[in-house]
Amino acid sequence: MKQILRGGTVVTGSGSFQADVLIDGEKVAAVGTGEEIGKLAQGDTAVEDVRGCLLFPGFIDAHTHFDLHVAGTVTADDFETGTRAAVRGGTTTIVDFGTQYAGESLAEGLKNWHEKADGKCSCDYGFHMSISDWNPSVSRELDDMMEAGITSFKLYMTYDTQVDDRTIFEILRRLKEVGGITGVHCENSGMIAALQAEAKAQGKMGVSSHPATRPAAAEAEAIDRLLRLAEVVDIPVIVVHLTCREGYEVIMEARRRGQKVYAETCLSIC
Ligand SMILES: [Zn+2]
Repeated sequence: MKQILRGGTVVTGSGSFQADVLIDGEKVAAVGTGEEIGKLAQGDTAVEDVRGCLLFPGFIDAHTHFDLHVAGTVTADDFETGTRAAVRGGTTTIVDFGTQYAGESLAEGLKNWHEKADGKCSCDYGFHMSISDWNPSVSRELDDMMEAGITSFKLYMTYDTQVDDRTIFEILRRLKEVGGITGVHCENSGMIAALQAEAKAQGKMGVSSHPATRPAAAEAEAIDRLLRLAEVVDIPVIVVHLTCREGYEVIMEARRRGQKVYAETCLSIC
């Protein structure tokens, strides 16, 4: 089934312009003037007048947590509601974090995530894998993950999925071998645990205690530690949901040293 979107403003990475868009099945087949597109569209083609509308490429959200059990709770959206919300906002692909919980293999974690997602999604989807239980067998599994199309991973420096510095280092070494990359949730978990215990002892349980128990230094310190580990391994890494200037400055310093560091910004973290 072909469809023409007529008279809209097409927005691309390099600018925006008036054009008609020909869609064939699920793919954009051509973008051009009304005449050009008219020639290409033969046979049964539906025409939709979209004058006054902006036409964007489908957005990709590479950081979603649907149906994730973490930190004593479950994320609000599952794959059904989350992907429905995604397409409403123009996001046509999401990449969720499949998660290996303690005692599981990566294959089990991936299977669980397929069970949560398959048949329930309104948009395209893929997975990263969070690694929380590192051992020689999991290390061997990284080859299988790459083969299954899982090429990006996530590590947590806090929460019950936390991995320690040695583990991060060993995982980075293996990812360099197999050609994978990881995003890392960077926070100094020890500092935060101590500050939280102090706040609780003083009866400060409200939302207003949140900034005081998670100072910017806790994030900046962990980012610096991660980037020094990555520096020795010589591998690019992703700092997920960067929240503060202090952390940004650490990243810029590592870039000046010649490291490849990607950063994602986000106001709420998990
Ligand atoms: Zn996350």
